[in-house]
Amino acid sequence: MSHSLEQRIEHEGSDIFSSLKKHQKIFETQSFLKNIIEAVLRESSFKLDLFRFVDVLPSLKTDDDVMDHVRQYLMKEGQDAPLIFKSLLKIGSLSFAQSLAVSAIEKNVLGMAKQFIAGHDLKEAIPNLENLKKDGFSFTLDILGEATLSDHEAYLYQQTVLALIEDLAKQTKLTLNNEPLNLSIKLSSLAPFLKETAPKKSAEKILTLLWPILYKAKEYTIFINLDMEHYQLKETTMLVFQKMLEHDDFKDWPHFGIVLQAYLSSSKNDLYELMLLLKKRCAKATIRLVKGAYWDYEVTVASKYGYPCPVYTNKAQTDQNYEELSKILLDNVDVVTPAFASHNVRSLAHAIAYAKEKNIPFDRFEMQMLYGMHSPLADAIRAKNINVRIYTPIGDMIPGMAYLVRRLLENTSQMGFVKKHQHDLAHERELLKKPSINSDHSFVMKKADFENAPSSDFSNKEYRNLIRTTIKNIEQSLPICIPIVINNETIRSSHKRTNKSAFDTTAPISDCFLADEEIAEKAVLICETAKKNLQKTSLSQRQNTLLRLASILEEDRAYLTAIMALEVQKPIKEGDNEVSEAIDFCRYYAMRADKEIASALLTDCFGEHNILSYRPRGTTVIIAPWNFPLAILCGMSIAPYLAGNPIIMKPSEQSPLTAYCLFLRMLKAGFLPDAVQFLPGKGEGIGSFLIGHKDIANIAFTGSLVVGQEINKLAASVQPGQRQMKKIVVEMGGKNAIIVDNDADQDEALLGIMQSAFGFAGQKCSAASRIIILTTIAQELLPRLVWAVKSLHIGSAKDFFVDMSAVIDEEAWNRLNAAKERLKNDQAVTVLHDTAWNHPGFVVGPMIVLVSDYHHWVMQEELFGPIVAIYKAQDLDDAIGAANSTRFGLTASFYSRNPSNIERAKDKLAVGNLYINQKCTGAVVARQPFGGALMSGTGIKAGGPYYLLNFVDAYAVSENTMRRGMSPGVTT
Ligand code: NAD
Repeated sequence: MSHSLEQRIEHEGSDIFSSLKKHQKIFETQSFLKNIIEAVLRESSFKLDLFRFVDVLPSLKTDDDVMDHVRQYLMKEGQDAPLIFKSLLKIGSLSFAQSLAVSAIEKNVLGMAKQFIAGHDLKEAIPNLENLKKDGFSFTLDILGEATLSDHEAYLYQQTVLALIEDLAKQTKLTLNNEPLNLSIKLSSLAPFLKETAPKKSAEKILTLLWPILYKAKEYTIFINLDMEHYQLKETTMLVFQKMLEHDDFKDWPHFGIVLQAYLSSSKNDLYELMLLLKKRCAKATIRLVKGAYWDYEVTVASKYGYPCPVYTNKAQTDQNYEELSKILLDNVDVVTPAFASHNVRSLAHAIAYAKEKNIPFDRFEMQMLYGMHSPLADAIRAKNINVRIYTPIGDMIPGMAYLVRRLLENTSQMGFVKKHQHDLAHERELLKKPSINSDHSFVMKKADFENAPSSDFSNKEYRNLIRTTIKNIEQSLPICIPIVINNETIRSSHKRTNKSAFDTTAPISDCFLADEEIAEKAVLICETAKKNLQKTSLSQRQNTLLRLASILEEDRAYLTAIMALEVQKPIKEGDNEVSEAIDFCRYYAMRADKEIASALLTDCFGEHNILSYRPRGTTVIIAPWNFPLAILCGMSIAPYLAGNPIIMKPSEQSPLTAYCLFLRMLKAGFLPDAVQFLPGKGEGIGSFLIGHKDIANIAFTGSLVVGQEINKLAASVQPGQRQMKKIVVEMGGKNAIIVDNDADQDEALLGIMQSAFGFAGQKCSAASRIIILTTIAQELLPRLVWAVKSLHIGSAKDFFVDMSAVIDEEAWNRLNAAKERLKNDQAVTVLHDTAWNHPGFVVGPMIVLVSDYHHWVMQEELFGPIVAIYKAQDLDDAIGAANSTRFGLTASFYSRNPSNIERAKDKLAVGNLYINQKCTGAVVARQPFGGALMSGTGIKAGGPYYLLNFVDAYAVSENTMRRGMSPGVTT
């Protein structure tokens, strides 16, 4: 009798379940872990706190620290800690017994980790591996560790793997059925700062360290499997695998494998791509099919950056896809060895049933499970004569925590099979049901009041190519001539400035005509007459103009990104973010205008009607910096225009091209030509002239403190004939600090420091230039920071792989090099690292110095380049004191896993924008409105509520509505 596939699955599944019956579970849990899982499933509010505590525990240095964290995470008011902790906490509250309680907690958490981690190293893991073999299982070893942050750490990982291969080769007694021993490798551990924008170069970098591993593995006949990590690394991983398969020395080598994640909606295409590769080859390879372990991460990142979510948001879709992919794999066993990695009985039963239906022998595929979650399910599968391989991590506790937390999440996931089976005791029939997509069970991405423009999806090859060709096309037309434009009239003055690329100093970028006072006077005059025209437009017309501009910027995103890479050496991804920011400014201000500058009713009473309205103030001068040549100029220009003020845009001398591109798009969007003047020119020339002009009503300035102060002074002095006080919005520099607390996640802190300090060569007002590290961890963190800085990729911004490029121009280069020389000759300074750059171009190699006095000038003055000063703080008070010691107050980051310290930082750090456990750059409109305190700025934050009020005067009208005793609302 022939059976349908579903019947077969039911049969195989029941068979597996009946083997599990005597255990009632898929795997046995160590008792502490069992208690934890049960406690979390009973009380889900406890989950995050508990897992956060587990995550931080190995980093805590003293008993006091442990008990402090226990109190903060597990003894919160109103929160009932699980029974298992209660007794320990009680003991811990007695001071003499604190260390007893701490060691009991550590022992228990360690014991829990040991359920999933086979040992600190191979030696410690061997008895566990022998047990696996005794039970008839093979294994793949994984060295715990997440993304590396320097070439040095990558090298250390490579050396560990090479040594492990040699050690493994000696362990022939661990071999099962004469097959090679098996190693799983995480590619992110083999190279720092990998980029999805540059998969080819990322792959090349990885391969330099991977090739020796592959040769050694071949020499000792060890199987190498590439693990799959975050989605952004997928293309790079696939490329590396392709190179391995196609290499002359390995094209007939059968002991390679890769992972396919069924939760990725792209996974079927990826599998077809892999099949094509394998079909061209004379040896098989293994594909491990998993559901995917980074779901929460992928969903969070996609929603944060607005990327299309790469994973299915409905669990059943992943399960369904897993089955489809299983079939494709089994249909191709001639070229591939499928490895079905799952603890879901239905998914495994499906693969077995399908193999039976297609008469595929069971030795043509294998099944994989995770160490510590395998028995007795693995026994049930093994009993069917299917090889079971156990994914077995080894390594240290700190890198092991990320792995442990993933396992804990998996075991407590409401949607997971393990939880349904072990905890809910769901019926077998329910568990074996064909996955069916019920949209009620889809995870719904949170919708915010304001949706930020998504960043580009650089995993899309076509988009990357579009940027490349756009750059090439623009280069053909360089230098671009930039005129002055007043009331749509193009003016070519007698003064011109030529800008060249700061990286390739022979490449011209633009020839820009510079306005003089006569031209500036004309611009002010036109604005005077334009006021009336602009006032004839309604607010909603102006809102629509901004929305049109947003769409135009969106359409021209690639072009604008390319222009910024060429003109100011802005790395491609950062340029892309800047376009998003400009779009966001347009949409956000347009959205807020109704709330902020439309007329509003005030409190009324009988006989009196009150209303508050806003009037534009008049001509507004915009003086912009070069470092955000699109977004800042855009935000500062569109806001006053929306509020009804004619504007004069004075871009920075260094970035007129991007500014001109914006200006042309503003006209295209329908900005009135007589109300928007484009006036490139010298800051100290027409800049000053305009600031001091009697007919100017508002000034929006972003730039350095020195210039900001001058502008403030000049704008305050009233000119003959001036009829209105000038309103000034002044946003200036920063000397931003990152504080790293002693319990911080050091990997995250290090990454944050690198991005904040060296992104765009440190030329952001928000860039971190002071790093304040608690002394207790300085010894660990400082060498890592130096290694990381040595590993930065420096080059032209046209290259998608670079972390930083040249500084803006020769003047900045001279200034920064002079600062470096001064630091090198300063007795009070220890130079920890200084990268030499011996090629042409205005590149300033990154430098890190250590000082013992935070009043030192390098800790006080804004340098605006890749020079970072470190101060070791005795305690948090000292750290906060150091951070607050400058006259600036722009941004800061605080890295810590101590909740009360985080609260202290929030309370005490005197900055406009504070970031907790994240980098201090890259503010996002509406979410992180931007602007400084103290000497960093005066205005209401850009990209936040009430920014528009900067450019209007409010007036209240109060009308007496009672006439001869008659009053609306009273007289009937
Ligand atoms: P800058 O002060 O040299 O120039 C800014 C603008 O001011 C330019 O357009 C310039 O032409 C003009 N200018 C110069 N002298 C002038 C004068 N006397 N009168 C009128 N205008 C004059 O700054 P920059 O080098 O272009 O930009 C870097 C600075 O800007 C850094 O200090 C950075 O921290 C700051 N910045 C601050 C923010 C913020 O939001 N707080 C954002 C970006 C940049």
